[in-house]
Order: sequence, then structure tokens, then C-alpha cells
Amino acid sequence: MAKITKRADDYSQWYIDIVTRAEMADYAPVRGCMVIRPWGYAIWERMQRALDDMFKATGHSNAYFPLLIPQSFLEKEAEHVEGFAPECATVTRVGDKPLEEPLVLRPTSETIIWAMYKRWIQSWRDLPLLYNQWANIIRWEMRTRLFLRTTEFLWQEGHTAHATAEEAREEAERMLGVYRTFAEEWMAMPVLAGRKSEAEKFAGAEATYTIEALMQDGWALQAGTSHFLGQNFAKAFDVQFQNKAGALEYVWASSWGVSTRLVGALVMSHSDDEGLVLPPKLAPQEVVVVPILKSGADNAAITTAAVRVAEPLEGGVRVHVDDRDNVSPGWKFNEWELKGVPVRVEIGPKDVEKGQVVLVRRDTGEKTPVPQGEVPVRVPVLLEEIQRGLFERAKARLEANCPRVDTYESLREALEGAGGFVYAPWCGGAECEARVAEETKATIRLIPEDAESCGGCVVCGQGPAKRVPFARAY
Ligand SMILES: [Zn+2]
Repeated sequence: MAKITKRADDYSQWYIDIVTRAEMADYAPVRGCMVIRPWGYAIWERMQRALDDMFKATGHSNAYFPLLIPQSFLEKEAEHVEGFAPECATVTRVGDKPLEEPLVLRPTSETIIWAMYKRWIQSWRDLPLLYNQWANIIRWEMRTRLFLRTTEFLWQEGHTAHATAEEAREEAERMLGVYRTFAEEWMAMPVLAGRKSEAEKFAGAEATYTIEALMQDGWALQAGTSHFLGQNFAKAFDVQFQNKAGALEYVWASSWGVSTRLVGALVMSHSDDEGLVLPPKLAPQEVVVVPILKSGADNAAITTAAVRVAEPLEGGVRVHVDDRDNVSPGWKFNEWELKGVPVRVEIGPKDVEKGQVVLVRRDTGEKTPVPQGEVPVRVPVLLEEIQRGLFERAKARLEANCPRVDTYESLREALEGAGGFVYAPWCGGAECEARVAEETKATIRLIPEDAESCGGCVVCGQGPAKRVPFARAY
């Protein structure tokens, strides 16, 4: 097997090598599109399952709204259409007949959902509506970055309707908390959480909240957002309800989403120069048992031992016995390392004699001989250790890459050097934000709730300023 590109040589090629060689995704015939292969899709399915459970536990139901949205719907919310129009694809013709009204392939579903909410909401008794949908989205892209930026991607979008502003805002904050828990506990990926600046918020939102992760190259990645939409969509679609006092009021809204770009974030958070590294909770297979078979020898005892070792793990742990006889054990080791399986169990003739196996960790490479009888106890403990270890390592990396600077020159140097979240004072002005973005390609990733107050803005020198993280982002 050819080696994958090293991170230090070419980070973006390293990422592409892992995604394609681990058979997670491939380029589609249409530019901008990708094919998600079974190994990548299995990771997405595990993400979906965990998130879906968390959505249900917070009172949400799944529904499904159509892919095709009348173009006039998008035009009803002025900021929304302005934000999305450049990347919208539109169906204008069926067969050789032009459509009476062009239909947009959904870039997000606020408009069609609020057109329906108008039919379903009359009184305060109809509220709240707490809906989520799992769907595909089309936002036209000319450059493909597998999982990170593609024309079509998969996501979930929550859309909720409430009687009061406080409830809608609380919902947006609650779901950001759900995303944060998921990122940290499942993806082993620590994040910063906060509110987006006016320039960076969702088109049509009053406020956008975000979680931001740090990739190994010092770039940030927006991993999930939730929006307090105020009454913007209710007004655009005339959705009013009768309150308890009998008066008509516009409905308050939130929306929130995460997408398959989380798979890309997962790859870039933990993987190394040997390939993918997966946190056990999201690994399609947590354990692979590899019997070390010799060609020409009687391998029956080894194969039987391998199956016996795997059996008691089944049910509690996702385990696979790789008994292929057409490839060497070394080839299998490389393949499962490339695919990021957290624990490999090796069992050869000597191990059979000694009644043991060798446990090999994917994240550290550490090898430990273990009596066969202890495998059912030792493996689950080891998996938990790996999950925790990945988070702790990523957290230490995040904490080591949050430099503080107080001058424009040092902001620039930090961004052009190691990157990371570079904390600098900002006055809150859009012009200062835009200047940094233009000159350094870095954006304000979020405004922390507990942002430190400080003297002068790093750009204009005016105060009062708050210390916010700047970063280049995927
Ligand atoms: Zn300023």
C-alpha cells in the first residue's frame, strides 16, 4: 500500500488521502458533488443516531418537507434571499415545457416550513412546534472539498415555533448546548461556543450561535449553528397566533443544524500520518480481531481462538473478525489502521499456546498482551480510555493554540504563523472586522458570552473593546 501524504508535507492532500484511501468518500462525476462510501456513511449514521436520540430527548419530532421550494417563497424574506440567491439552483423546465413558477432546490427550509406553519398554527395552544428534519441540501459550489464543502450535502435542520421571544431564544441556546455535548462526548472534539457577529450571522436571523472546533493545521471549523430568528419568518409568511389574552401576535422562531461536514471535522481532529483515527463511540467497528495465519500451516486452532475471543464482545462492542486468507496479517494491520478502528486484537500461534492475545491501540500504537479470558473486561475499559484520551489530547491542543495579542501586527503574525484562535480586542465595528478579514483572511469566529473587556480595538484603537477569537476557517 502506498503511504498517505504526511501532514507536515501537505495538510490538505493528507486530508484528501485519508478520506479517499479509507474509502469514506469519492468525487462524483458532477463537479462539486461527492459520493459517500459505506465507511464514511456508517460514521454519519452513528452521528445521526446519537443526535436524533438527543433531539427526541429534548422534545423534538421528525418530519419531512419537500426538496422543491417555490422561488417566490425565498423572496419573501429580504435578507434570506440575498444571502442564499447566489448559490441556489433552480428548476425551470420539465421535459420541454417551462414551469409556471421556477422551483428552487432547498438551500435550507425555513421558507417552506413557515409557509406550512401558517396552516398549522392558530392559537397559543398549537405552540410550541418542535420539528426536525433529516435531509439533503443543495448550495452550489465550484470547488469540492470532500465532506467540508460540497454542492449537495446531508444535514438535519430543526425548525421551532414559539409563543414568546424568550422561549425561542432559549431553544436556540439549548440546541447549541446539545451540539456542544455531542461534539465533546461523541466526537471527542472540544469546541468554543458563542454568538456570531452581525456580519457572520445566518441570513434572516436575529442572532446566530455557533460551536467552533480547531483543526490540527490551526484552522477553525464551524461545527454547528443555531439561530434565534425573531419574528422574521412569521412576518414574511404571516404566521400569527391568538395569545392567552385573545390578541393576535406573530410567532417566534428558531432553527439549528449540523451536517456531514462533521465527518470532515472528525477526520481532521484526530487522524495521523498512518490514516484515520476514530473515537470509539463513532467508529463503525470498534474492534477488529486479526488471526495471524501462516500460508501452508494448519490455521484452524488460531481461527477458532479468534472467533472465541470475539464472541463474548458481540452485543456490547462492534467487533469484526478479519479471517481473510488472501491478504497477509501485515496488510490487514495497515488497512485497519488506515480506516481508524480503535482497537486491534492480534492472535498468533504463540498467543494460542499462551492463552493470550495482544491488544493494539490505534491512537497510541501501544501493545498489551492480555489473557484471553480477560478480553471481555479489558476491551470496553480500553475503548473508554481511548475515547477520553482523544478528547484530552484535542483539548490540550486547543488550549495551547489560543494566543492573546494586542496589536494588529501581532494578530497578523499569529495568524500567518501557527494560526489557532487568536484572541484580540475588537470594538464591535463592522469595518474593523471586514478589514481583518480582507487583509488576513481570518474572521471573528464568535463572541464569547464572557468576553473579556479590554482597552482599544486592535484595528482602530477605539474602545471599549472585547477580546474575541480570530481564525482562518474551513
Ligand atoms: Zn475597531
